[in-house]
Amino acid sequence: MKLLKFGGTSLANAEKFLCVADIIEKKNKKEQTAVVLSAPAKITNYLVTIIEKKIDNDEILKKINLAENIFIELIKDIKKIQSLFPYENSKEKIQTEFNKLKKIINGVFLIKQCPESIQPIIISRGEILSVIIMKNILKSRNHEVTILNPVENLLSTGSYLDSTVDIKESKKRIKKININQKNIILMPGFIAGNKKGELVVLGRNGSDYSAAVLASCLNAKCCEIWTDVDGVFTADPRIVSNAHLLESISYQEAMELSYFGAKVLHPRTIEPISQFQIPCIIKNTNNIHAKGTLICQKNNSNENFLKGVTHLDNIVMFNISGSCLKDSGKIISRIFSTLARENIEIILITQSSSENKINFCTLKKDVDYIFLTLKKEFKLEIKEGLLNSLNIVKNLAILSVIGSNISEKNNIASKIFSSLGSSKINVLAIAHGSSEHSISVVIKKENLLQGVQNIHNALFFKKKIINVFLIGIGGVGKALLKQILKQEKFLEKKNIKIKLRMIANSKKLLFLNDFITLNNWEENFKKSKEEFNLTILNKILKNTLDSNSVIIDCTSNELLSKQYVHFIKNGFHIVTSNKKANTNSLKYYNEIRTTALKENKKFLYETNVGAGLPVINTLQNLFNTGDYLTSFKGILSGSLSYIFGKLEEGISLSEATKEAQKLGFTEPNPFDDLSGIDVARKLLVLAREIGYAIELKDISIEPILPEKFKNNQNSEEFLIKLQELDLSFTKRVNKARNLGNVLRFVGSIEKNGICSVKIEEINNNNPLYKVKNGENALTFYTNYYKPIPLVLRGYGAGNNVTASGVFSDLLRIIL
Ligand code: ADP
Ligand code: ASP
Ligand code: MG
Repeated sequence: MKLLKFGGTSLANAEKFLCVADIIEKKNKKEQTAVVLSAPAKITNYLVTIIEKKIDNDEILKKINLAENIFIELIKDIKKIQSLFPYENSKEKIQTEFNKLKKIINGVFLIKQCPESIQPIIISRGEILSVIIMKNILKSRNHEVTILNPVENLLSTGSYLDSTVDIKESKKRIKKININQKNIILMPGFIAGNKKGELVVLGRNGSDYSAAVLASCLNAKCCEIWTDVDGVFTADPRIVSNAHLLESISYQEAMELSYFGAKVLHPRTIEPISQFQIPCIIKNTNNIHAKGTLICQKNNSNENFLKGVTHLDNIVMFNISGSCLKDSGKIISRIFSTLARENIEIILITQSSSENKINFCTLKKDVDYIFLTLKKEFKLEIKEGLLNSLNIVKNLAILSVIGSNISEKNNIASKIFSSLGSSKINVLAIAHGSSEHSISVVIKKENLLQGVQNIHNALFFKKKIINVFLIGIGGVGKALLKQILKQEKFLEKKNIKIKLRMIANSKKLLFLNDFITLNNWEENFKKSKEEFNLTILNKILKNTLDSNSVIIDCTSNELLSKQYVHFIKNGFHIVTSNKKANTNSLKYYNEIRTTALKENKKFLYETNVGAGLPVINTLQNLFNTGDYLTSFKGILSGSLSYIFGKLEEGISLSEATKEAQKLGFTEPNPFDDLSGIDVARKLLVLAREIGYAIELKDISIEPILPEKFKNNQNSEEFLIKLQELDLSFTKRVNKARNLGNVLRFVGSIEKNGICSVKIEEINNNNPLYKVKNGENALTFYTNYYKPIPLVLRGYGAGNNVTASGVFSDLLRIIL
């Protein structure tokens, strides 16, 4: 004997009904088959609104007619496909059931309330009709069918809407029925009968439980639950697109998953099948050949010990406090025995003895009843002021991670909390260790989706994702985007995914998605009408909850650089080629670092000095391992390296500058390079990195340009005016050459932290002697590197090298 259960999603329309009939026929060819059916999708929801009394009488009649129409349309469609289907007979049965229902509802209208004993009769009509329709389909295909009446055969105890089946007694009853071995057995799910013989139901989603019960009563060798997904996944596949299918799980794991919200199975399903050791398979009616998930005694697979992330929404947390909780043991046992007596399910409990407080979580639907029950029980204590009035926190959700012996694995809780923390999600309560196989946290319902996705990614998804918000799409920004696109496949092999989320310049922005990608961003950016400014950016950041979110600043904007602390506080890492933050006041410089440390975020700025050359990282590594600097000398400007190199070839200062400009080595106006301020900024970044607490004004700059050169000429005027200096420079170059030296524009840091930027005569023993043509060179004289200094040399400017430096900073976020 095999048991098959088909859920509402598998019976949602005529095609699906007939597909279910095909599956039943096929299975029944091999061995006798018993089938449990739910109501077609949506039907129970319509019927439940009737008993919830939230809507008026007209609305209720509308809902009933809607449900009736669904059935009539369903059988019409079945008739169209399967001509032998007894449409008239089925229609009659549907109308009889709905007339019965309407009569009951009229009675309910008259007495203005729906007695508890009537409620299960109303909400279970869908199941009854599913069985009638399936019986007619199977009969018209020449199968003999036996219908089992669950009211007579499944004895249950408990409330009308959430009953529990007494399997021993039900087994006895079913054994007595004489079922022809050739017949297909059909039974409506969700329904059972109490001692008085009244119809009761087994809780929402209860057909799974009916199936497990019937499988146990019939000693079935297997119980197949057919639904609309391929099996049990590591998270609800409707909300976590990269959830994995679990090949097999143990009864215990399945119980935990369903108890904590995996809707694919009703929580009580497992108890009977594990008691009788019946293997259970979850299968997909939309993909019948998929293997499904096997639930059995022992999980032999070598899969991850972690099984899933589940969630329960519509949770409410009760806070009970008061001095009488000092003697917490007694009060707690009274609270919970009172609630247990009333069959109220408590999902999670936390207690603080020091504050005389106890919190527990329940489903929203039970709140009013709990209030009533507890107020009654603690009437005296409340009156005497020993128990403060009861408080509730609404709109909560419980997010749980399920895994075998999870409470013994010490890094799981930390991963859960860090991934919630990185998405700015507050945890209101925790249950860790109370169950060996689950860790649960209570969060706000509004954070649920993000929380589930982030935790699932952190625990199950091997791919590391970086969410990038790029500001600045000049030469460096554009080159960076090209490099990221080019490396996409290479990084994918290393399980790294760089997700560009937003690209902006000073005026507008573009959001990227499945259609607007790195392949077509430029044309879409041109079309974009979305304005960009700091207020808009801050709004976007506030609404971004993904972990590993990074702002890349490829601008030279000072205002933007002053927002870094704010960005970090909002959960963002910062990668920047913009020097303005690191050369701002020392106070701000330190504030960025302390904030980043506190918020556990990275602040990376390798390209601030020497573009892509590994300067900052190398220095940090040296200092971390105990080295210290004695002095530093460097050529830190690509444009000045080019210009001074040309001078020694006999080219005049103005000509050399013009050439450098043509080659793209200079800033748009070469005045900015020759003023020396850019070199001073880089030197400041280095000096601070080394540990000197100095400001920009502390760096002495020997200007290449005399006072009268003001930064108010345009680039052409400036280059003409520069000719005035040609002669004096040629003289200076010749004088140096006569001594075997060359001129270089050098930034220096002395042992005592004195920093200067000036033109120096360099002899041919000095590593800077040969540095020209736009190259940078940095010579570090340290305790370990002496007498020969550590020299870093290479192109220190240019879009591609700078972009690659930014790119490698970006990867350091996750590597
Ligand atoms: P049925 O009508 O067949 O009883 P349900 O809607 O009750 O189907 O249950 C199936 C649904 O359970 C799936 O569509 C899926 O969205 C949801 N679900 C929630 N958690 C999980 C999970 N961990 N694995 C698979 N499905 C899940
Ligand atoms: N039809 C019922 C419900 O929707 C029972 C079930 O589908 O399992 O809750
Ligand atoms: Mg279900």
